[in-house]
Amino acid sequence: MANALYPGSFDPIHNGHVDIVERAARLFDELVVAVYDNPSSKRLLFSTEERLALTQSSLSHLPNVRVISYSSLTVDIAKEVGAATIVRGLRATSDYEYESQLALTNRALAPDIDVVCFITSLRYAYLSASILKEVAALGGDVTRWAPPAVLAALASRFSEARR
Ligand code: ADP
Repeated sequence: MANALYPGSFDPIHNGHVDIVERAARLFDELVVAVYDNPSSKRLLFSTEERLALTQSSLSHLPNVRVISYSSLTVDIAKEVGAATIVRGLRATSDYEYESQLALTNRALAPDIDVVCFITSLRYAYLSASILKEVAALGGDVTRWAPPAVLAALASRFSEARR
């Protein structure tokens, strides 16, 4: 079995992530999408449970994709689920520096696990979770950028905030 792990904060999952998952799921027997519990560098909008549920419902159409949450080292969770490959996505050259640093760190920690980066699809090249949240918070139309469950969660979170 060729298994892969796609880790990230997914706060929340958006169509750029879904596109990477759909493409990676065609290449691997099983793809485990792993929602990182507590990224120290990020202020999160959604709890781990919410991010997990939104990610699960947005990927339920893909039979060989499983969604988990984790709080350990990414390479440790990759070993735990039997994944020899870590999948990540690349948008602009600005992602490259961070992703190569992360990939080299993970290779240093676990030389047997390799990292494969998918280049974004052109229509999502400018999309990030932070832009999605910013536009949604300001009442902009985000329907083309996120799955239905995420749109509903954003609408309810920001209508609460406006009350
Ligand atoms: P992290 O907090 O680990 O950087 P994110 O949840 O923001 O995680 O993203 C997970 C992965 O998906 C990262 O590799 C990121 O570069 C990639 N990604 C994010 N947005 C897009 C997009 N629009 N197109 C392709 N890849 C993307």
